[in-house]
Amino acid sequence: MIIDFHTHITAPEIIARRDEYLVRDAWFRDLYANPNARLSSAEDLIQAMDAASVDRAVVFGFGWRDMDLCRRDNDYVMESIARHPERLIGFAIVNPATGPEAVREIERCVAGGLWGIGELMPDGQGYRLDDEKAMTPIVEVAMEHGLVLLTHCSEPVGHLYPGKGTVTPDEVIRFARLFPDATLVCAHWGGGTIFYELMPEVAQVMRNVYYDTAASPFLYQDDIFSLAARWAPGKVLFATDYPLLPPLRLIQRMRAVRMPIVTLRRMLGGNAWRVLRLGEREKAGGYVGAGGL
Ligand SMILES: [Zn+2]
Repeated sequence: MIIDFHTHITAPEIIARRDEYLVRDAWFRDLYANPNARLSSAEDLIQAMDAASVDRAVVFGFGWRDMDLCRRDNDYVMESIARHPERLIGFAIVNPATGPEAVREIERCVAGGLWGIGELMPDGQGYRLDDEKAMTPIVEVAMEHGLVLLTHCSEPVGHLYPGKGTVTPDEVIRFARLFPDATLVCAHWGGGTIFYELMPEVAQVMRNVYYDTAASPFLYQDDIFSLAARWAPGKVLFATDYPLLPPLRLIQRMRAVRMPIVTLRRMLGGNAWRVLRLGEREKAGGYVGAGGL
């Protein structure tokens, strides 16, 4: 089974009125002012998944600052998973800086069948991931419902890019120290946090933290797959950041890397299966799809 752990979908009416949203949210403008930066519907995503034999994808909207926009994106995600229950797994977008409003929206999304919270975009939404006061209510509601948290992260070094932000390894590690029992997925290899898992005391703190491969070819040499596989084979989650990257391209690159087939399978879907507790959900009657490598 292949599971893409990080994809964005956008309601067709937002795609059609993109210019209005560029004015309404500064972080959205940073990422999407460039007309070449694509926005895609759930159906576009399904087509790309079919082209790459991807069984399932974790989908979410954009990390808006305004909770009205978050709610609208979440509505679209809930409608989309209802249309494609065997293919799409939805996460809820919220702005933790809004406190109880964010918690209420998470509760609404859980009732609507969403399994996680993300992508958190602390820089665009106006809080810090290691702000205990802002994050405690979010983590509490996540733990209560068994939700996975997924956050944007970036490298403290290297080239700048739109939406890079400042959620760097030190901040991610401080979050894990505050909330060691929360299941956290760090996008983009945690901005390099995965390398610090070579330090035993960090690995201990990060026992419930996973790393997705979203946008990897824009950031790292493909050697990162085989290197990370050596010390953290159970922690890597195949992810594209679709529509930034079509899944077929990333899967081909990962298959070209020298590593044990068992490890590749874990990265492409096995680890995600465990993190999302798909086995338990299957037993409970949820559809998990068929297929495989
Ligand atoms: Zn993303």
